[in-house]
Amino acid sequence: MTTVDEAIRSMIATQKVDTGKVQGLSRQIIAETNNILTGVLLNFEDLPGLTLSSEAFLNYFLQSGPKESLRSVLRQGINQKPGMRMKINSAYRTVAQQHILRQIYERGHRDLVPLAARPGRSNHEDGLAIDVDNFSDWKALLLKNGWEWQGAADPVHFYNNSGRDDVGDLGVKAFQRLWNRYNPNDQMTVDGDFGEQSAVRMNRSPVDGFVTTRIFTIGSTGEIVKKIQQALTNAGFPVPVSGNFDEATAAAVRKFQDKKGLGADGVVGAKTLKVLGILL
Ligand SMILES: [Zn+2]
Repeated sequence: MTTVDEAIRSMIATQKVDTGKVQGLSRQIIAETNNILTGVLLNFEDLPGLTLSSEAFLNYFLQSGPKESLRSVLRQGINQKPGMRMKINSAYRTVAQQHILRQIYERGHRDLVPLAARPGRSNHEDGLAIDVDNFSDWKALLLKNGWEWQGAADPVHFYNNSGRDDVGDLGVKAFQRLWNRYNPNDQMTVDGDFGEQSAVRMNRSPVDGFVTTRIFTIGSTGEIVKKIQQALTNAGFPVPVSGNFDEATAAAVRKFQDKKGLGADGVVGAKTLKVLGILL
């Protein structure tokens, strides 16, 4: 498992910034943001007139207002010139991606990242901004359709304020909720504010996204243990459904694992849970 911190160190060592390294984690954060507020981030790859890239760092998501405005821009462009296409360098940026940029900046590598907003604060994290590679082709139409251009210092960047301005905070909340779900013994405050407690945990998060690492063994107790005991019983290895993972339960687990060709260690981890049909 590669952590975000390891990925950052490797980017610094190789002098190559690639926020696509956290694609798996980013997908979980986008999905969780849409769990918090249904449909707040909409995929816009379906819009006509885009040259799509499969680069891992690109998340083609915007809020509905900017998405519809972009649809108008593209339609008008195609009407003017049928072959006209827009190439986007950056759209939605997750808090994990912004964290990478901010960390490289804060660790002093200004040659790699000259400037980076605090995670949660970039308008790319609100689903309100796009960076347009061929901006000179599209600038006039973007301006006509409600997009703002912030000048020659960042000429690819366009911003559309027809949406909520707190979606960056929702992204931070999404990360905090994910962390808490997968780290039951290390809970943090879900406040949507990316401070030190969030930065430390983001550094320890897996770049490919969170996976269940819980294991159940002799001494484990609770509802999941009951589910394990019930599933073992149903599978033909009857044990009392007591909620206490005892020697008898471990023996039944070993027999079950042996029958299913799993390593027969009597410990229930992700693989055995899956074969038992138990979802956490
Ligand atoms: Zn930008």
